[in-house]
Amino acid sequence: MTGSTIATAETTTALAEELRRRLRGTLLLPGDTGFEDATRLWNGMIEKTPALVVQPTGTADVVEAVCFARDHDLPVSVRSGGHNIAGTALADRGLTIDMSRMRGVDVDSEARTATVQPGCTLGDVDRETQLHGLATPLGFISEVGVAGLTLGGGLGYLTRRFGWTVDNLLEVEIVTADGRVRRTSRDDHLDLFWAIRGAGANLGVVTSLVLRLHEVGPIVHGGLIAWPFERAGEILQAYRAITSGAPRELAVWLVLLEAPPAPFVPEQWHGRRICAMAVCYSGDLAKTDEALAPIRALGDPVVDLLADQPYTEVQSYLDDTEPKGNHYYWKTEYLAELSDELLATTRDLFADCPIPGAEVGFLHLGGALNDHGDDDGAVGNRDARFALGVNGMWEADEPNGDRFRQWVRDAWERVRPFSTGGNYINFQTADEDEQRIRDTYGANFDRLVEIKRTYDPDNLFRVNRNIRG
Ligand SMILES: Cc1cc2nc3c(=O)[nH]c(=O)nc-3n(C[C@H](O)[C@H](O)[C@H](O)COP(=O)(O)OP(=O)(O)OC[C@H]3O[C@@H](n4cnc5c(N)ncnc54)[C@H](O)[C@@H]3O)c2cc1C
Repeated sequence: MTGSTIATAETTTALAEELRRRLRGTLLLPGDTGFEDATRLWNGMIEKTPALVVQPTGTADVVEAVCFARDHDLPVSVRSGGHNIAGTALADRGLTIDMSRMRGVDVDSEARTATVQPGCTLGDVDRETQLHGLATPLGFISEVGVAGLTLGGGLGYLTRRFGWTVDNLLEVEIVTADGRVRRTSRDDHLDLFWAIRGAGANLGVVTSLVLRLHEVGPIVHGGLIAWPFERAGEILQAYRAITSGAPRELAVWLVLLEAPPAPFVPEQWHGRRICAMAVCYSGDLAKTDEALAPIRALGDPVVDLLADQPYTEVQSYLDDTEPKGNHYYWKTEYLAELSDELLATTRDLFADCPIPGAEVGFLHLGGALNDHGDDDGAVGNRDARFALGVNGMWEADEPNGDRFRQWVRDAWERVRPFSTGGNYINFQTADEDEQRIRDTYGANFDRLVEIKRTYDPDNLFRVNRNIRG
């Protein structure tokens, strides 16, 4: 299937009427109230205009939308939280299924599971599970969509304890390209469930996710602590020691950045380079001092916001640092270790960084995810202990945007030699090629291609990081 798009206003109106009659939820066309909201993405660099936006209220609407797109040979996309940096949530001149009206979370505290609808943000899920002192590993910006995050693997502060988000995925309901509703788990459609755990966007439209929960919080110790960039050499070395000795209950992200003009940063530090650690300790609070002693031993921070606080706050205190509508361009690699050479390279490249809103840093992942076999879900990358990110952000009217993007690419070339060879599908930008997708899945790629051919032989679901043979 090559894919066509709706060509004229006349055909759009006729088709829209046909589809509208089949839905319980909403159908939006360009110009309709709500259309703009539904089609504005977190990454302002990406603009696309779907011909049709379906806002389902349940699985039956999703089936209608999938069959309609298939029968009319329309590109189809799924929008959950709209945070994918590559802008895969929208199908240009095609049909977008916007999940924003399916936002329910049902927690079974006895069974320790949450049944989550795909329009939920991470904050929606954390909020409901934390009522019971439970959580599953999710990312640390609360506005991100749970479906997009989970279907690509999913990582966050709890990954060291409980693995990728998909390691905690128990069951999924999915509408496949043939319009069938399938429930899949480790006991049912095993190959489909394996592929969904890392490449889910390629297999269909997920309408429900069941996630395993663990005892976490509701109070944890977390926050931010930062030192002047002039101490970067020492802080980076200390970071390696801290992360190699840390209990799994402690996750520490390290980020080199310009201090934002935020109220919690002393004014004399606004706009100056700092080394920040974002910390989440979710273990026994009586052992906080012991767990954080190596961080505290660094002394003289210029920002110190570490405190006992609700887990939901730790999961959202960075929200304002990545505002919707700015332009974003990232490159990421998984790492197995932090060598002296890598640490020095990271420091040097940030010292020369021309982008005021850039961040270069490490996510601390090693732990439970390394306990599984590489073939336990398509997500793979079981050798990852860190993710390294070179992240650029600038405003939409920034005249140096092209130069900044090139800087990120050049910086990435300098750190690529330290990669495991793997990278995170959910952090890939629109210009990354097919080889990057193959690199993500490594030895799992060929099996994925076979499963994709079985469940989506015509590649209906191709507005994503697409698996092609
Ligand atoms: C500021 C920010 C912080 C982030 N932090 C983290 C983090 O801490 N941990 C982490 O793991 N990731 C993180 N990410 C990456 C995030 O996981 C991806 O951007 C993910 O794609 C976002 O999902 P979404 O639902 O918000 O996005 P969307 O753009 O709505 O969806 C992304 C893609 O997922 C697929 N998809 C979404 N819903 C469905 C569905 N129901 N059925 C089938 N396919 C679907 C579609 O292909 C869609 O294009 C972050 C991203 C941003 C922008």
